[in-house]
Amino acid sequence: MFEKLEQLLERYYEEMVDIRRYLHQYPELSFEEVETPKYIANYHKQLGHVVREGVGGRGVVATLRGAKPGPTVALRADFDALPIQEENDVPYKSKNNGVMHACGHDGHTAQLLVLAKAFCEMKDELEGSIVFIHQHAEEYAPGGAKPMIEDGCLDGVDVIFGTHLWATEALGKIQYTTGPMMAAADRFEIFIQGKGGHGAQPHHTKDSILLGSQIVQSLQHIVSRRVDPMDSAVLSFGAFEAKNAFNVIADTAKLVGTVRTFSEDVQDQIINEMNLIVSGIASSFGAEAKLEYYKGYPALINHEEEALLLSKVAETIPGIKEVENAKPQMGGEDFAYYLRQVKGAFFFTGAKHPDWEEAYPHHHPRFEIDERSMLLAAKTLGKVTLTAFRTYN
Ligand code: MN
Repeated sequence: MFEKLEQLLERYYEEMVDIRRYLHQYPELSFEEVETPKYIANYHKQLGHVVREGVGGRGVVATLRGAKPGPTVALRADFDALPIQEENDVPYKSKNNGVMHACGHDGHTAQLLVLAKAFCEMKDELEGSIVFIHQHAEEYAPGGAKPMIEDGCLDGVDVIFGTHLWATEALGKIQYTTGPMMAAADRFEIFIQGKGGHGAQPHHTKDSILLGSQIVQSLQHIVSRRVDPMDSAVLSFGAFEAKNAFNVIADTAKLVGTVRTFSEDVQDQIINEMNLIVSGIASSFGAEAKLEYYKGYPALINHEEEALLLSKVAETIPGIKEVENAKPQMGGEDFAYYLRQVKGAFFFTGAKHPDWEEAYPHHHPRFEIDERSMLLAAKTLGKVTLTAFRTYN
């Protein structure tokens, strides 16, 4: 049955490219998507699929029921873009000023739509149902996955798969993990209230810059001295704001940063240690400091059996040269939420053109993909769906 699906996908590859290039020209920001979900819904409606719009806000969910009974497999593609001005000089360059599909979500959408079209033509043979989850707002926490799940997009779903086109890995490569794959991505802000004064009379002040500096230094010790060396964690600062004239000691300061972890225990430990250090240093200065901690997406943790199923399938796809059980990444992805509800797996599909010595990273104004990666992604998602119909029956 896969041979037929493969032929259909190859026949429609040009359409896949056209869709991707169309969407690339009209990118929309997270939580502001209007035309993209409309376009997606219309495409599925023309195929005769049951379509639900406005799911969890702006998501689109389409269902294809196979002629034969069987399990329900969900496939997810995100469709939002980023606040970046495109610098690529291509005919399909973004026409929306300051907005760009710089993470490949245009490709995710194109490959899933065309896969839906191919599956639709095989409806009579399908031994199960497919739920196509088109998700808004992946790039901006709290994200679209959580509200879509709360709105029922996973109801009746037995297993879910999803992929991210990965421009920095070679075309023909698939990466997966059998456990943690992407990190919980949290944000924190620390507000310091000292006491300002004359730079020549520091003994009458509580220097918030000095206090902030000590906090920056001491928080670095959490990962190096408090977290188990066998666990992974990152604590990075992105901003240190404190401003005054050259001869004035600042009364306030603000620190902003991110924490990345793979387990909730480590995450909780880091939050506790941060609170201890921040309040301890502040009280040693006789000043005040407050930590505000915002949890982002949880860690993305693949289910082992489904990840192994995915890897076995990927190895059989013509054009896929390497299937790697990869190291986890510290980036965040709200596909994590789906995997907390149902079993499944997420994987990266290499999208770096063989001629490129180096690829521009994701979220770069010159980000680009080798479009043939979409075909490989669609074939992999398609074949894993067909395999799952048998496996979960
Ligand atoms: Mn992305």
